Amino acid sequence: LKIVVNEVPVPVAYGPAYEGERVRGEDIYLECGGGRTPMVEWVTSKPIDDVVDGLVTVNGPDVNEVSAGAKLPLAILVEVAGRQMQDDYEPILERQIHHLINYAQGVMHIGQRDIAWLRISKGAVEKGFRLEHIGKLLHAKLHQDFGRIFDKLQIKIYTSAEDVLAITAKAKEAYAARDSRVAGMTDESVDTFYSCLLCQSFAPSHVCVISPERTGLCGSYNWMDCKASFEINPLGPNQPVPKGQTLEPRLGQWKGVNEFVFKASRGAVDHYNFYSIISDPMTACGCMECISAILPLCNGVMTVNREFTEMTPCGMKFTTLAGTIGGGVTTPGFVGHSKYNITQRKFLAAEDGIKRLVWMPRSLKEEVSDLFNERANEIGIPDLLSRIADETIGTTEEEILPFLTEKNHPALSLDPLL
Ligand code: SF4
Ligand code: ZN
Repeated sequence: LKIVVNEVPVPVAYGPAYEGERVRGEDIYLECGGGRTPMVEWVTSKPIDDVVDGLVTVNGPDVNEVSAGAKLPLAILVEVAGRQMQDDYEPILERQIHHLINYAQGVMHIGQRDIAWLRISKGAVEKGFRLEHIGKLLHAKLHQDFGRIFDKLQIKIYTSAEDVLAITAKAKEAYAARDSRVAGMTDESVDTFYSCLLCQSFAPSHVCVISPERTGLCGSYNWMDCKASFEINPLGPNQPVPKGQTLEPRLGQWKGVNEFVFKASRGAVDHYNFYSIISDPMTACGCMECISAILPLCNGVMTVNREFTEMTPCGMKFTTLAGTIGGGVTTPGFVGHSKYNITQRKFLAAEDGIKRLVWMPRSLKEEVSDLFNERANEIGIPDLLSRIADETIGTTEEEILPFLTEKNHPALSLDPLL
């Protein structure tokens, strides 16, 4: 029996019209994630008997139990079950959380996975919006849009740090397992990539094209996920993109991709390169997990993740960088990408890949270290990670250059970047 849900049971207006709306400053009633508190969202499958369709629980303080301006940790755990449900579909359902929450008037959602960010406005709270409504709207909309692939869905919301951290730890294992599904694949081994147009509502000219060796810049979608998404929803945002003729093997440019991007950006972008930060790099929306920027003095590249809110050696913080490159245009010298992409073999391949990386926040180094060290081993520089500077060494090019010199960082002996 398929459950049909027509209404979205929330006490605020609801629809795509509210998607781009911001909640700022004095207007914020509750804030979660965004580097202020831990926040995670995770969709996972369960045996059918373990899911009560439509169940929404809120564990920990809700909006009406905190005062205006409060910050809370938040986990949104969505458990699905059904005969058609496959693990492959989890990331697709999970990525819907972003726009489905944004559809609620007075509620702002940014990011994904364990770097999500939520704000609920005073206006929404006055109208009666509570955390349980996040669960209710997800239940209603996911049934409407994806009811074909699951039968039952329940949502558990947590706002205590202990619960949120425990769920984050499990979710991270699931994220890593998803990421690794494309680990053995190469861009040469397929003749079709996939588009993602989910973010066009925010960045109308932005088109993600996702190849096995370049996961979506938000980190939520890799080639496998897009393939599954197309199978579920053949008219949806993830369309097959035939590569066509290879135009620039070193930069990563294909005729079929250019044609697709031109059409899907309505003529705004006619080409971009998958593997370069200098020559017409891929466009970006606002969702990137990381941003790379060139550091001319060091003849290298830095990369910074969203969670790192301090100054970086390119002279900009993450938020400023995101504002600079996030409008759906190509910005030479800057590129948005996922965390996982740092450890994919084609990462900045046109500029010698990870050999160019001269600075990363310490936490990002730790987070990617296992896979990064595998890549470093492959290229014959097993200790590369320890030769890369971080904020404890410095946050300007001048501060980190002596360290790079002392460590004999490989970037210093590569061809000039510019
Ligand atoms: Fe899709 Fe790209 Fe947006 Fe991620 S950032 S949801 S891959 S369009
Ligand atoms: Zn986006």
